[in-house]
Amino acid sequence: MVIDQATVPTVKTSDIEDICRQFCTLAVENGASRVTTDSAHPLVQKFVLAANLSLDVARRAVRTSNEAIQELRKIHRIARIGSWRVIIEGRYTTWSDEMHSLVGDAKRTVVPAFATLTELLAPADRAEFEAAFHSVIETGQEATVESRVNDAAGADRWFWTDMQPEFDDRGAVFAVRGICQEITERKSAFERIRHLARHDPLTGLANRAHLNEQLEQILAEASRRRESVAVLCFDLDGFKSVNDLYGHAAGDDVLREMARRLACHVRETDLVARIGGDEFVVVQAFGQQPEAAQSLARRLLDDVMGTMMLKGQAEIALSTSIGVAYYPADAKTADDLLARADRALYWIKNEGRNNFAAYDPMMEREYQDRRKLEHDLRLALQRGEFSLVYQPMLCARLDQFMGFEALLRWNSPVHGSVPPDIFIGIAESIGIMGPLGAWVLRTACTEAARWQNPLKIAVNVSPIQVQQGNLAETVAEILESTGLAPERLEIEVTESLLIRHPERALATLRAIKALGVRIAMDDFGTGYSSLATLRAFPFDKLKVDRSFVLDLCEGSESMAIINAILGLGRGLHLPVVVEGVETELQAAILRRCGADEMQGYLLGRPAPIDQFTAITTARGATRGVAASRQHLA
Ligand code: C2E
Ligand code: CA
Ligand code: CA
Repeated sequence: MVIDQATVPTVKTSDIEDICRQFCTLAVENGASRVTTDSAHPLVQKFVLAANLSLDVARRAVRTSNEAIQELRKIHRIARIGSWRVIIEGRYTTWSDEMHSLVGDAKRTVVPAFATLTELLAPADRAEFEAAFHSVIETGQEATVESRVNDAAGADRWFWTDMQPEFDDRGAVFAVRGICQEITERKSAFERIRHLARHDPLTGLANRAHLNEQLEQILAEASRRRESVAVLCFDLDGFKSVNDLYGHAAGDDVLREMARRLACHVRETDLVARIGGDEFVVVQAFGQQPEAAQSLARRLLDDVMGTMMLKGQAEIALSTSIGVAYYPADAKTADDLLARADRALYWIKNEGRNNFAAYDPMMEREYQDRRKLEHDLRLALQRGEFSLVYQPMLCARLDQFMGFEALLRWNSPVHGSVPPDIFIGIAESIGIMGPLGAWVLRTACTEAARWQNPLKIAVNVSPIQVQQGNLAETVAEILESTGLAPERLEIEVTESLLIRHPERALATLRAIKALGVRIAMDDFGTGYSSLATLRAFPFDKLKVDRSFVLDLCEGSESMAIINAILGLGRGLHLPVVVEGVETELQAAILRRCGADEMQGYLLGRPAPIDQFTAITTARGATRGVAASRQHLA
C-alpha cells in the first residue's frame, strides 16, 4: 500500500521522544498509568501500543525483581545477615539495610564506609578485621572473622563476617564483599558449653580441668612478674557422714553453701575450684606471700567453717584442715604445686584437725612412711598379725574380778608393735575398721566362751563400726556362732559417736542392747561429757577416763571431777568404772569414794589371756587385790 503523503500527517520526533520519556518513567513506577500520545499518526499510534506492551513486560519484571529483593531482605533480617561491598579504587562502599541494624545503626544515620565499620567494632577486634580485609585484597582468597559491636544497651553482640574478593577482567581484586551474620546466641551457647566443661555444675566453681589450665597460666604470669603464688587445698571433715546421715541433697546443700561462703572470702583475682567430692582448691595469685595465704587460711578456718543449718534438719559443724604450697619455693609446675599442697593437707590432717600447714620436704618422707604403714595394715588381718590382750576389771566392792577388756595389738614384722592409738585411726581412715572390728569381736567372744569362769568380756567398738549399720547383726551372729551368753558381752563406745551421728548410732545401740548385750560409755569425762548424751541412751556403765586418775589425791581437781562423775552414776543408777589405776593410794581413794569397778596396771596390765588362767578357770579364787597380784605374778 502506498501512503498518500498529502492526507497523512508527518511523524514528529518530539512525539517519539515524549513516548520514550513516558516509558522510562512509568516502567519503574508501580502505578497503572499507560503511555499516551496526542498524535493521530498511525505509526505513532502503533508505537504507543508497542510501548505499552513493553511497559507491561518491564513492570512485571521490575515487580518480580522487587519481590525477590524484598524476600531476600526479609531473609537477611530474619537470619540477621548483612552485607557490604567496598570497591577498592576510591573505597566506594555500600551497606545493606540489615548491615546498619547489625552494627546498631537501625536509623541509618551512619554513612557507609569501611573505616566507619571498623570504628563501630569493639577496639580489641578491629585489627583482626582490618587484617582479614587486606589479606583478601592481597591474596585473592576469602577470609572469615568474628567481631563484636556494642549495642545500645552496652552489651556485646557478636557477628561473623565472610569476606569474598571480586575480580576484574584481568583477574585482579577490584572489590571486597562482606557477608555478615549475627552469632551472639550461638556464641553464648558455645560459651555456655565451654563454661559447663570447665565448671562444676553444682557449685559453679572451676573444675579440675579448668584449675589445671588456669594455674599454668597464673604460674607463667607469676614467673614473668617474679611473684609468688599460693595454692591452698582443703576438704570438709566428716562430709561423708553428712551424705550418709542426711542424704545426698543435704550433702549438695553443704557444698553449695561452702562455695557461697568461699566466694565472700577470696579476692576477685583468686581462683576457687572444686576438684572432687568435697575437695576444694584456692589459688591465690598476686599477694605478698606467705602472709596473704596465712591470713586467707585463718579466715577459711574461722569464718568459712562453722555451723550450718541443714534444711529443716539438724545444725552441723563444718571444719577443715588446709594444706598450702607456694610457687616457686615448693614447686615450679601446676601439677607439682597441687601435689605438694595436697601433701601438706594430708600431713596436717594426721597432726590434728582444724589447722593449716605449709609444705615441707619432710612431709614427703612421713607421707611415704604412712603410705607404707597403711599398705601393711591393709594386709595385716589376712597375714594374721593382729592379736588380743586382755586387761582384768575388778569389782571394787566385792574385791573380785568381773571380767576383761579385750585390747587389740598389731605386731608388724616391718613396723614392730604399733600402738592402737595410732593404727586404729588409720584403720578407720582406710576403711578396714569394719572387718577388723568384727575380727576383734569374734576372737574375744570365742575366747570368753571357752572360760570356765563365766566372766564378762568388754570389747571396744569404733564409731565407724556403729555407723556402718550392720553391727547389731554382726554381734548377733557372733554370739550365736560362739555360743557366748549375751549378758557376758559388754560393748564399749565413746561419746563422740553420739555427738556426731546420733540417730543412726542410737538405733544400732538399741538393737545391740535388745540382744541382751550391755553397753558402756568409754572415756567419760574427756570429750563432750554432756548429760544430754547420757540421757539419750540407757547406758549400762560409765568408764571414767584414766587421765583423771593420774594426779588423783585428796583435794585435787581430778578428785572433784571423779566425785562428781560417781555422784552422777549413783543418780542415774549407773555403775562407774575408773580406768588407769596404777597405785595402791589411788585404789584406796577410789574405794572410799565409792567407785564400782577399777581397772589399771595395779590390778593387771593388758596381757595374753594365758597369763590369766587362774582367773579364767578358778571360780571364786579371784578375790582381793593382793590375791589378784599373786595370781598375776
Ligand atoms: P581404751 O579403750 O581407753 O583402753 C584403755 C587403754 O588404757 C589401753 O591402752 C590400756 O592398755 C591402757 N591402760 C590400762 N590401764 C592403764 C594404766 O594403769 N595406766 C596407763 N597409763 N594405761 C593403762 P591401749 O591398749 O594402748 O589402747 C588404747 C586405745 O585404743 C583404747 O583405749 C581404745 O580406745 C583403742 N582400742 C584398743 N583396742 C581396740 C579395739 O579392739 N577396738 C577399738 N575400736 N579400739 C581399740
Ligand atoms: Ca575401752
Ligand atoms: Ca577408756
